[in-house]
Amino acid sequence: MLSKFWSLGLKGIDGFIVSVEVDIASGLPSYSVVGLPDTGIKESKNRVIAAVRNSGFDFPVKKITVNLAPAEIKKAGTHFDLPMALGVLSACGKIKKSADDKIKNTAFIGELALDGSLRPVSGVLPMIMALKNEKSKVKNIIVPSANSEEAAAAKINALKANSVKDIVNYLNGEEELEVCQKSEEVQKARYRGDFSEVKSQAFAKRALEIAAAGFHNVIMVGPPGSGKSMLSKRFPSILPSLSYEECLEVTKIYSVSGLIKSSKLMSLRPFRDPHHTISNAALIGGGSNPRPGEASLAHYGVLFLDEFSEFSRSAIESLREPLESKEITVARVKESIVYPSKFLLIAAMNPCPCGYLSHPTKECSCTPAQVHKYRSKISGPILDRIDMHIQLSPIKYDEWASLPAAEKSFDIKDRVIRAIDIQKKRFNGSKTSANSFMSIGEMKEHCKIPESADRILEIAMNKFGFSARSLDKILKVSRTIADLEGSQDLKKEHIMEAVQYRILDKAGDVALKY
Ligand SMILES: [Zn+2]
Repeated sequence: MLSKFWSLGLKGIDGFIVSVEVDIASGLPSYSVVGLPDTGIKESKNRVIAAVRNSGFDFPVKKITVNLAPAEIKKAGTHFDLPMALGVLSACGKIKKSADDKIKNTAFIGELALDGSLRPVSGVLPMIMALKNEKSKVKNIIVPSANSEEAAAAKINALKANSVKDIVNYLNGEEELEVCQKSEEVQKARYRGDFSEVKSQAFAKRALEIAAAGFHNVIMVGPPGSGKSMLSKRFPSILPSLSYEECLEVTKIYSVSGLIKSSKLMSLRPFRDPHHTISNAALIGGGSNPRPGEASLAHYGVLFLDEFSEFSRSAIESLREPLESKEITVARVKESIVYPSKFLLIAAMNPCPCGYLSHPTKECSCTPAQVHKYRSKISGPILDRIDMHIQLSPIKYDEWASLPAAEKSFDIKDRVIRAIDIQKKRFNGSKTSANSFMSIGEMKEHCKIPESADRILEIAMNKFGFSARSLDKILKVSRTIADLEGSQDLKKEHIMEAVQYRILDKAGDVALKY
């Protein structure tokens, strides 16, 4: 007897439909799975047999062949347990003929426990999205109850079940299954920190507002305790809210990574802060069983690299691809997988190895050679992809205590959104989505240098040794400053402010002055 059930597979963060065919023939008892299954699927045999028996059915002592099609794409995951068990039950007549219509347009995913109950699986949302494809004839899905909120987020006809037995009863028309319901808590999600909690560092906060408005990558240089990570953690709270499509995309990445704890749609911009000892594979993704790395987990959010100069040179270099193309391609033997990774990079570092170079009250114990070596690690191509260098001063307690409460993230975000709207209109019809991505042609058109600022740029180039590339960054950042002000033209003061955000370009200026 032959049976066929629909299930889903994952390639990168995209799902595809898989047909699970089960053939039961007489012959020596065996159970084999064909169609490029990974070792995890091959090991499902014992779970399927135990789950079927413990659900009150006899497991056929015959020659059983399971075929996963299309055969040319590799399949992985424990979620094929359920369609395989159902296939066996159907092929040996435990599921009625009347269920054929339901089976024809429904996909099944779920890992089996030995007692026949269903366990949640990762990657539910991206898999289900494959059913939303217009060409798909399969329009319904049955998922484990614990995955029901994630399934509901896809806005598709999804039912949830607790066990194989429940599903067999449903298919035989003896029981109903509940519809997957969306959680109300999605709307209530809030960022943990607010910019109003950071009372000092007005200069850095202003710079971060510009970074948020124009999608400019940032490096912060300052002594320990100057608030670099405190500010960075609050940065997502001044970015515009994610659209529904963006929430889906972020959730897909976390779903395939098995990082969705509560099965809810992720509605906040991610903030990722990997340690500097991280491996390249963990940072940008890959490995023998490919998974998205931190650079993709930070998609549409912030990748914060503290102690930036402590990261290995190869890790820092590996960020060039995502910073350039906003995605990461992981090459495999027969195929390659693409993970999106449009993040805003915030790097942070001390001014020198000990952290106290030019500190007003503490002594620096580093030699000039040590400082030079420390700084040189971040020079070159990666620095070329960072538009803004911000210097943070040590926080003086007296000053800090007397300061009034600062502006709320909500109000800053409001200005950021207005500046982003201006850019959307400006780049309408172009691939460019923000000032930081402007092409040379677009810069010529939108960043006309006012005559009054010519002299400033000339001084900057001669005195500080700015390169032509630094000037490009200055102009892009100036454009964002002008947008925040609602100014059509670049003005002298916009350029003067942008020049201040290039401290690491100042040739020979090793000692940062506070
Ligand atoms: Zn030092």
